[in-house]
Amino acid sequence: MNTLAALPGAEKATVIERDQHSISRKQISPNALKVLYALRDAGYHAFLVGGGVRDLLLGGTPKDFDIATDATPEDLKKVFRNARIIGRRFKIVHIHFGREIIEVTTFRAHHEQQNEIADDVSRRQIQGLDSAHSTGGMLLRDNVYGTVDADASRRDFTVNALYYTIDNFQVWDFCNGMEDLQAQQIRIIGDPWERYKEDPVRMLRALRFAAKLGFHIEESTRAPINDLAHLLESISPARLFDETIKLFTNGHAVELFELLKQYKVGRYLFAPTLEVLDTAAADDPGCKLIDLALINTDNRLADGKSITPAFLFAALLWPVLQKRLARITATDSKSQHLAFQQAADAVIHEQLQYTAIPKRFTIASREIWELQSRLMRRNKRSIASAFNHPRFRAAYDFLLLREESGEDLQGIGQWWTEFQLGDTSLQSELTESLTGVKKTRRRRRKRKPAGDPA
Ligand code: ATP
Ligand code: MG
Repeated sequence: MNTLAALPGAEKATVIERDQHSISRKQISPNALKVLYALRDAGYHAFLVGGGVRDLLLGGTPKDFDIATDATPEDLKKVFRNARIIGRRFKIVHIHFGREIIEVTTFRAHHEQQNEIADDVSRRQIQGLDSAHSTGGMLLRDNVYGTVDADASRRDFTVNALYYTIDNFQVWDFCNGMEDLQAQQIRIIGDPWERYKEDPVRMLRALRFAAKLGFHIEESTRAPINDLAHLLESISPARLFDETIKLFTNGHAVELFELLKQYKVGRYLFAPTLEVLDTAAADDPGCKLIDLALINTDNRLADGKSITPAFLFAALLWPVLQKRLARITATDSKSQHLAFQQAADAVIHEQLQYTAIPKRFTIASREIWELQSRLMRRNKRSIASAFNHPRFRAAYDFLLLREESGEDLQGIGQWWTEFQLGDTSLQSELTESLTGVKKTRRRRRKRKPAGDPA
């Protein structure tokens, strides 16, 4: 029978009845509801969990909706034609509804201390295993299925382990998540040291939720972070790039960057930037530019506008680029252009050791940088080619931030603002005023009369 009481682990839940919490079905994505109902009709148990429940209880708007169920990934494929299994370390099922994806996971169980894989062993050895961890305690495979209460204790933070059921609209709490929500704190579930060792990215997630929700990090959750920050070295730069994007796109990039400066984990994402910031003067324009770019990012997201990682990285690496450029030009009499190329190559190469930024973004970041000097040039052809460049808009925004951060660019930002707003005749007037070249009408050369000797 598909009754909630019959679900193994149900007896461990503290149940919050419908009249004791603020979640209503109207706030839940219709597609997430469809998945919950379809699973119930197929005889399974399914709950809304994670950020969806947390953010609704806090009166916010969830970014996405995650569902946990006792149906296995294979069961899910049978129930939903639009389901795709993704991930190996942690199998997830994505159910596609046009642009919306509902993420469904099967209840996870605790791991036995088996399948320990030495750190130097080929990853091929873990293929086919459902459970595996490294000698250092890091989870390599987490696909052993279990009960709802075990699933709760395998989640990261107590506020992320609240389960909402459409059966009688209760919220189930296994880890005192409601209490921590009220106390506005991020508390890791279980032994913090062990949980961070299992997955060091949880340290970044702690900072992300603290910044996003404006919560503090509970003492025992906070305490090991600096000691264990180095574990992030074992995370692939590709995953660290994904996490970095999540960190900076949750609408609270400013607060988040402060946390990255405070905690050592920041050094495993942005060592070059943070080293420059450590030694920079308080009014350094490069540092100010980063702050302004982050404010800009938060404002754009609040207005429902898009942001691109290319702009973010162009800003975060700008002070590093400036420092390197100064070093190169001080010791070498290269052309400005060559010096820039060399510095940009080195800065991007160095950052890629931390976060594997996809090439399309590094190319665009470089273009934003490169256009900075082109936007300063005072000749007609450069003005036209910069204006028609596909990255013009981003480069112009970047130029304005540089001026705002205190760089003296001789009012060129204002010039470009007027140029964009003007019609063609105003644009040519502005070009004349900048280049000092008057638009002259070419005199036609008189054609020589036919038959005239050369
Ligand atoms: P967001 O608002 O960013 O989506 P979220 O809490 O929903 O926040 P997700 O990354 O969507 O975060 O993950 C969904 C849920 O899966 C989390 O709330 C948490 O319960 C669990 N989870 C995700 N990543 C981990 C992890 N690394 N370790 C343990 N549990 C995790
Ligand atoms: Mg989520």
